[in-house]
Amino acid sequence: MYDSIRGTKDILPEESKKWEFLERTIREVARLYNVQEIRIPTFERTELFYKSTGEDTDIVQKEMYTFTDKGGRSLTLKPEGTPGVVRAFLQYSLHKKRPFHKLFYIERMFRQERPQKGRYREFYQFGVEIIGSASPLVDVELISMVMNILERLGIKGTYVRVNSLGCDKCRPDYRKALKEYLKGKLPLLCENCRRRYETNPLRILDCKVDAEKLTDAPRMIDFLCDECKEHHRIVIDTLKSLNIPFKEDSTLVRGLDYYTRTVFEFIHPSLGAQDSIGGGGRYDTLIKSMGGPDIPAAGFAMGMERMLLAMGDREIEEEKPVVFFVALGDDAKRLSFNLLEGMRKAGVKADMDYIGRSMKAQMREANRLGAVFTYIIGEDEIKKGIGILKNMDTGEQMNVPMDVEEIKRRIS
Ligand code: ATP
Ligand code: MG
Repeated sequence: MYDSIRGTKDILPEESKKWEFLERTIREVARLYNVQEIRIPTFERTELFYKSTGEDTDIVQKEMYTFTDKGGRSLTLKPEGTPGVVRAFLQYSLHKKRPFHKLFYIERMFRQERPQKGRYREFYQFGVEIIGSASPLVDVELISMVMNILERLGIKGTYVRVNSLGCDKCRPDYRKALKEYLKGKLPLLCENCRRRYETNPLRILDCKVDAEKLTDAPRMIDFLCDECKEHHRIVIDTLKSLNIPFKEDSTLVRGLDYYTRTVFEFIHPSLGAQDSIGGGGRYDTLIKSMGGPDIPAAGFAMGMERMLLAMGDREIEEEKPVVFFVALGDDAKRLSFNLLEGMRKAGVKADMDYIGRSMKAQMREANRLGAVFTYIIGEDEIKKGIGILKNMDTGEQMNVPMDVEEIKRRIS
């Protein structure tokens, strides 16, 4: 007997109903927002993640599943979606076909971190990337798309943390001011943060250990250049006009290197330590830094397991079979089987018993499945070529010839 690997999981049928509902809802809303699906490979060159996710991120430093294949290349199971999507975008020069693209993905991600509630080593993310526009309305569209999905899923109480990280013009000044402020505090900070002081000091604000000691740190928001300020103002005003619950939070920096201007995170307070169900932001310089043209973009990724956790124990309606064929003996089974196939061809959900149950047990099974009708074929019925159609709700029975069209007519 084998067990699954720690941090991976099986989604058994009871739960896969919820997954199907989640994915269907995502696809419906993606359609409303005119976002098209992209599917990307499970693994990529390791380099890609170094370059785009960033060398100093937790993901790249600690969490990647990296291996050498038989050709001696270093490959990595994707820990996030954006690098692969941008790689594909550039590989197929999508920008030459059209200047503006809205893409979504539903993909498995892999990160080697400590498994716990809401944190796995293989998990699913739903993400959107909008490529080709610098408009602040795009940032809000991303946020509103998520809020729309959460609402349809019945997830209440989510709010959005929002911040701006500025751009290449204004962030260096902020970085300087922040480093000045942090200088005296260095001995108090964790080892990770002391290292980041040189490589990526903004990320220190995001440290789960040290953040509380830094509440009086200078704020990026006070350093924004005029363009970034205006961008941020429009984002905030538009969020207000859409009544989206948000909090401006100057400590939000997000874990990835590539963000510029708007960053956001969706918080669902009931989830405890893993209360972030997703996040994203603008990445206006990433595509260029990956060797592509200078194209602005923004996106987000949502953790689908956490979305399901936030949904709680909500029952998902399953489609019931319309007809369950109840038959005893080989001849009756064969007749049932033919009719059963005919029903399915006619688009009717139907099933029968395959494990030799008694008549009574077959009726019980039909009940358990919630079948609307049973079609019963016993010995007498075989002789007459006429079966009994029983309405499982009313108990009403009628004789109906063994013919798909006849049965279909009676049940519709
Ligand atoms: P966290 O702070 O929880 O580690 P993160 O900053 O690593 O999150 P992102 O990389 O932004 O998260 O990924 C977006 C979303 O993906 C998260 O908000 C979360 O819902 C989900 N997610 C991230 N890592 C995992 C994981 N190991 N297992 C399940 N879901 C995850
Ligand atoms: Mg993480």
